[in-house]
Amino acid sequence: KEHLNPLRRINLEIFNYTEEKQKEIDDLKRMEVFRREFLANVSHELKTPLFAAQGFVHTLLDGAVKDKNVRTKFLKKAAKSLDGLNDLVQDLLTLSQLETGDITMRISSFDIRAMVEEIFDQLEGKAEKRTMTLAFDPNCPQAVYVQGDERRINQVMTNLITNAIKYNNDGGHVWVDFEVGKQEVTVFVKDDGLGIPAPDIKHIFERFYRVDKSRSKDSGGTGLGLAIVKHIIEGHKSHVMVTSTVGKGSTFSFKLPLAGAEEVNTKEQ
Ligand code: ADP
Repeated sequence: KEHLNPLRRINLEIFNYTEEKQKEIDDLKRMEVFRREFLANVSHELKTPLFAAQGFVHTLLDGAVKDKNVRTKFLKKAAKSLDGLNDLVQDLLTLSQLETGDITMRISSFDIRAMVEEIFDQLEGKAEKRTMTLAFDPNCPQAVYVQGDERRINQVMTNLITNAIKYNNDGGHVWVDFEVGKQEVTVFVKDDGLGIPAPDIKHIFERFYRVDKSRSKDSGGTGLGLAIVKHIIEGHKSHVMVTSTVGKGSTFSFKLPLAGAEEVNTKEQ
């Protein structure tokens, strides 16, 4: 009877798929949904600054703006949109390299405190505008030699410290601290800013996830900073921890291997 009913036979064949095959299909479906969502997100994120810049430039070309001051203001706005677009493309390239595993971590020993001092210098202007302070914890060791990819750890620290400034109140504080163990160093970036609601914490490392979209856009974020941080830290076989209380602040931390020379890791007060 079976051969007379091809539909039923096909049905049976489908049901005979092994669990493994079914899992493969589910994985492919999930990847397809993910790919579509990602493409939609990227297109949207690219379109917003591009349309803004396009609008300003075309208005200027049409000659409608006679006032020189207004013209300068329009040009500055167009430049800001294009800078944002540049940041986004840079972050997308970094993320795609990290995700395809095209890059190897170039491991060396370096003083992470000296690295953070330089980052503080670079971000001081940003912090001062909002009367914020960037500092090391009073008990933080003076020189802390760790092993890692110096350039990429610099990007991690820059992203975490920039976020600690962005998602903070005027007059707020950002602290960096290092806890030196026998084999590894725990790096902390703390702020007394806005904090992150508990249900959002597990999502903040996803691309383009923002707790408060308007707030993040105003402060010039690409929505990719923490996704990059997560990939780089995982590339060092470590992971990022977050503790946060809304209205009180957040602490991001991760571990790196201590560099061999113990004598350089002096704990000074
Ligand atoms: P963005 O470019 O939006 O800053 P990120 O990937 O760096 O993207 O961060 C994702 C989201 O996580 C941010 O939009 C913000 O809502 C939240 N976030 C990150 N760091 C902090 C922090 N230190 N305090 C409060 N919220 C934060």
